[in-house]
Amino acid sequence: MNWKCHITHTGYCTSNRSEVLHGEKRETIRFYATIGILEHEKHGLMLFDIGYHNNFFESTRQLPFSLYANITPVFHSAHQTAANRLRSLGFEPEQVKLIIISHFHADHIAGAADFPNARFICSQEAWDSVKSRRGFSALRRGFIPSLLPVDFENRLQLLAFDDSKHIKLNTILGSEYDLFNDGSLLLCQLPGHAAGQIGMRLQTEDGEVFFIADAAWVKENYQEMHLPSPIVKLFFSSWREFRASLKKVNVYYNSQPKTQIIPCHCMETLLEINPDSIEI
Ligand SMILES: [Zn+2]
Repeated sequence: MNWKCHITHTGYCTSNRSEVLHGEKRETIRFYATIGILEHEKHGLMLFDIGYHNNFFESTRQLPFSLYANITPVFHSAHQTAANRLRSLGFEPEQVKLIIISHFHADHIAGAADFPNARFICSQEAWDSVKSRRGFSALRRGFIPSLLPVDFENRLQLLAFDDSKHIKLNTILGSEYDLFNDGSLLLCQLPGHAAGQIGMRLQTEDGEVFFIADAAWVKENYQEMHLPSPIVKLFFSSWREFRASLKKVNVYYNSQPKTQIIPCHCMETLLEINPDSIEI
């Protein structure tokens, strides 16, 4: 039994090509916030990341979080929220049972309050890195605490990558967490962009899909090992870990060319998979 996977986006912010790909010319590019809507006969309805939401604008009206909105101008309309994307597929957000959070940057969690019945899953390291941070300390990690629902922690399941009941070893990606113990959905560690960031490999009707979150921003990062500008080190949890995670994705890409790799923010990838979602 395979997953049905809908890949779409929740709006975008703008960035600069010279930061995303070191040495390239200065040019404004769109940084889409891609999400995965996942359906499975037995495991139900899930999300991989939640993306933008009007709550992002509400939460960034005042200092210090207004600085976030100033650094990354966001373009988002109500029909693009994860909840409304689900509705357009014939679902209700209340049906979502599980949400995997790759990491806690605001563009990955802004719509979290729309899913009252979901359990959330992230790595222990990702949650530890943000849970008690407020104000500037949170902002420095791209985290806006008010985006999370008040009962978030009660609904949170933390992944331990040393839990022998769930861990499988992949020769390239290392320890992977087999969420349902049936090999259909595997979570791997891709830290560096943010502490404890996780990716997800999924067996779908159309073959394997690998969500790599922000382990690469655009396909050139992992296909050619073309690194971002060193200036982005300022925003990363560990440049060394980022490079190691990117290398793993690069090696995986070369060994499994049929796998569809999804960097969260790559417009070209989104254009290949779901061109209709992109409004010019
Ligand atoms: Zn991020």
